[in-house]
Amino acid sequence: MLLPALASPSSKTALRFPGRELTYERLADEARRVARGVRGMRRVAVWARNTPETCVAVVGALLAGVPVVPLNPKLGERELAHVLADSAPDLVVDDELPSGPACELPEPDAEAPALIVYTSGTTGPPKGVVLPRRALATNLDALASAWAWTADDVVVHGLPLFHVHGLVVGVLGPLRRGGTAHHLGSFGVAAAAAALEAGGTMLFGVPTMYHRIANEPEHAAAFARARLLVSGSAALPASVHERIERLTGQRVVERYGMTETLMNTSVRVDGDRRPGAVGPPLPGVELRVVGDEPGEIEVRGPNLFLEYLNRPDATAEAFRDGWFRTGDLAVVDPDGYVRIVGRRATDLIKSGGYKIGAGEIENALLEHPTVAEVAVTGEPDEDLGERVVAWVVARGEAPAPEELGDHVARLLSPHKRPRVVRYVDALPRNDLGKVLKRELR
Ligand code: ATP
Ligand code: MG
Repeated sequence: MLLPALASPSSKTALRFPGRELTYERLADEARRVARGVRGMRRVAVWARNTPETCVAVVGALLAGVPVVPLNPKLGERELAHVLADSAPDLVVDDELPSGPACELPEPDAEAPALIVYTSGTTGPPKGVVLPRRALATNLDALASAWAWTADDVVVHGLPLFHVHGLVVGVLGPLRRGGTAHHLGSFGVAAAAAALEAGGTMLFGVPTMYHRIANEPEHAAAFARARLLVSGSAALPASVHERIERLTGQRVVERYGMTETLMNTSVRVDGDRRPGAVGPPLPGVELRVVGDEPGEIEVRGPNLFLEYLNRPDATAEAFRDGWFRTGDLAVVDPDGYVRIVGRRATDLIKSGGYKIGAGEIENALLEHPTVAEVAVTGEPDEDLGERVVAWVVARGEAPAPEELGDHVARLLSPHKRPRVVRYVDALPRNDLGKVLKRELR
């Protein structure tokens, strides 16, 4: 059963949103009404605002065994048209939740599609990822074992509910454990601090949120008392990890996942929390790095998706002998800790005969006091094949480009020196704070 706490619901708080709380009894009641309304449909979409209604609608569809597509409410006309045409839902659930007459709701098959979640669209147009119930259940249990996650935990976050981070890990995770999800509506440092003061035990965030926490030291005490601070969805710069530790005494636990695989690796609650490392594979997940390092990560296990919706070509291309090709590049420490250095599509720079990972140069540049944010890309170069380009948001006065080049050459090696430095006011980012490198280029 995917959500056992809903079978015999209690008066414990399941969901807390700004100004609203739902007990397990209330959630079960409302979700069952939705389930009866959508039962028998082929597929429904949910307008996934950060509200309790979104959670009720998703849980209701899951109870009915109807695959649900969470829609990003900020999508522009053209993107929304693409997602609706691609997923062809029978119904789009908005704030008005459907309800139907009382009936039995048998537990659907474990292999049945449960969610169709669109990827973030970092490297190309978003693809609909069909996730079976089996992947959700096994992955949430693997995370529970990695983080000693129980019914006593109150998970605090402000993540969007149309990606797996916010919806699967941040909402279905606490519900599967019989614990509480405390959603902030939207992330703010003061609001997150207040939620932790009020009994929150774990904080789930993306790197840009930890960056903001590090910049608002007046709230440090609240973050210091959390049981666990977890980061994912993009690389947590080592410099941010270190600043959070200096401020709160807490070392952030990093995990690595994607829409297609849910979570693949995580640092364990009692493991070594190394800056820049996403930990070993989760229980049940097999992971290998192919080719010379940095090589591509391939994974296999019960956490994998079924297929890309309407994209048999992309599905076939994504697998090699049953292994899913993540497109992410990594090196592995001798004890099995994975370090992500970037993506094959955007972060592997081939310069002067060397294979250079953009992430390593980004981390080095962030250690320079004048660099607030940075993204490194490659661009064609007659001599080198590709040259390293750094897009920098400066803190205070921008330094001479040579100064940043020398800094990288000294910390890393001369062939990793950025040949071009471009100062920008801001980096293009999506709603999870991921830098959209294809827009930079
Ligand atoms: P698209 O597939 O449409 O280009 P996307 O890959 O960004 O978009 P998601 O599935 O939301 O869409 O994101 C998964 C990716 O996020 C991973 O492949 C990886 O590159 C990155 N990622 C997630 N967690 C981490 C992490 N802890 N460190 C580094 N990268 C991470
Ligand atoms: Mg992807």
